[in-house]
Amino acid sequence: MLEIKNLHVKLEEEDKVILKGVDLTVEAGKVHAIMGPNGSGKSTLSYVLSGKGGYEVTDGTATLGGEDLLELEPEERAALGLFLAFQYPVEIPGVGNMTFLRTALNGQRKARGEAELNAAEFLKLVRETAKSLKISDDMLKRPVNVGFSGGEKKRNEILQMAMLQPKMCIMDETDSGLDVDAMKLVADGVNALRDAGRGFLVITHYQRLLDHIKPDVVHIMADGRIVKSGGPELALEVEQNGYTDILAEVA
Ligand code: ADP
Ligand code: MG
Ligand code: MG
Repeated sequence: MLEIKNLHVKLEEEDKVILKGVDLTVEAGKVHAIMGPNGSGKSTLSYVLSGKGGYEVTDGTATLGGEDLLELEPEERAALGLFLAFQYPVEIPGVGNMTFLRTALNGQRKARGEAELNAAEFLKLVRETAKSLKISDDMLKRPVNVGFSGGEKKRNEILQMAMLQPKMCIMDETDSGLDVDAMKLVADGVNALRDAGRGFLVITHYQRLLDHIKPDVVHIMADGRIVKSGGPELALEVEQNGYTDILAEVA
């Protein structure tokens, strides 16, 4: 599904190299987690995959279902089925949450050659999905994420994911800011969407999140590379011993 080979990335404006040959394959139906010390390049990887500016790919490839992601505009990547969730979702003043979801969903359907949902079809779908996530009508009508609490933003992110039914979800939940309830919510959202046709890449500092999500594969990223991969036990090892032993072992 998602295949990253030898990815090298530097800052556009500076000679600072951040990713130094990332190799990573996420198969359909699998949940992969990335952990790693601060500054190892985890967020940069998710930004580059999303198409955010400011970074230059100097070598390597990233494909989704065989399509070259790096050649595409962010919205084309989304139409291919790539979904990115960041720790601080953007607020969009003046655009109602429902309007945003309908535009995004129909834009993707159109790009895939599928019929757009009419107003009634969309309303039914969004109401059902929102209800399952305990999202109120009020939250659906308010401007996207504006004034939402941290927990509401997380639920809204899961709502977007559930509505768009992406093929590949990348979630960067690093650093602090997720309380236990928000963490549980993200985990429940991911678990509900786990599917044989869908892959997940979950970037996290917290072994705790992985107690709820149960990844198939855990990768450790350090200094711009994946330095070790293993099963869920690797996350437990990090929790118990930190990164020092693992980094010494691979050095
Ligand atoms: P992580 O998410 O693993 O903590 P990041 O991808 O955020 O790591 O950062 C990797 C390294 O690249 C850090 O040293 C960070 O300071 C640097 N970096 C990333 N983006 C920028 C940027 N836009 N400008 C300057 N430095 C950056
Ligand atoms: Mg960081
Ligand atoms: Mg980060």
